[in-house]
Amino acid sequence: MKTLRDRILKDGKCFEGGILKVDKFINHQMDPNLMKQIAVELIRRYASTEINKIITIEASGIAPAVMMGFLLDLPVVFAKKKKPSTMNDMLTTKVFSFTKQREYNIVISKEYLTKDDKVLFVDDFLAYGNAAKGIIDLCQQAGAELVGMGFIIEKAFQDGRKMLEAAGVRCESLAIIESLDNCEIKLKEQ
Ligand code: 5GP
Repeated sequence: MKTLRDRILKDGKCFEGGILKVDKFINHQMDPNLMKQIAVELIRRYASTEINKIITIEASGIAPAVMMGFLLDLPVVFAKKKKPSTMNDMLTTKVFSFTKQREYNIVISKEYLTKDDKVLFVDDFLAYGNAAKGIIDLCQQAGAELVGMGFIIEKAFQDGRKMLEAAGVRCESLAIIESLDNCEIKLKEQ
């Protein structure tokens, strides 16, 4: 997706340890127009797939997920990183965060992820695929069908896609970073 690739090259910043900062348009300040274009492109890629729910993880996946849910008129569920005191019947799993270097739990109420669901998972980044792995686990626990995953940015050098393809999960990314070596953003031609 050319608009996104150009924006990453213009406003993205590299950090130590293979981290790309996109705070100017995705992770802190957000560009709703770009977010809409992202949602439209992900919808186009999954046009032939039956989906009845979009799922994501708080916080940065919520914007693209809501945009897709709005355009498709589908409900959006975000996995929470803290169990609300009012939530009793829930699905839970552990996720290792590579950017924060610690493990955390994610929870989804059993009411909002069930065996009747055909879900598309959407997130801002695919790195090692730990968050994605957590979602696979929650879908298995619920008996829901995971029809695919969509990411705004994939870091190809961190192998999340390999894990997802080995697990038989369809994976679409709108911009693929080949390397951040020497603090230079190298994008894959698409
Ligand atoms: P994974 O679970 O695939 O290892 O990492 C994906 C999650 O970690 C995403 O939800 C994202 O929030 C965060 N993440 C991973 N790599 C980056 C990065 O380079 N930049 C930012 N801003 N977040 C990242």
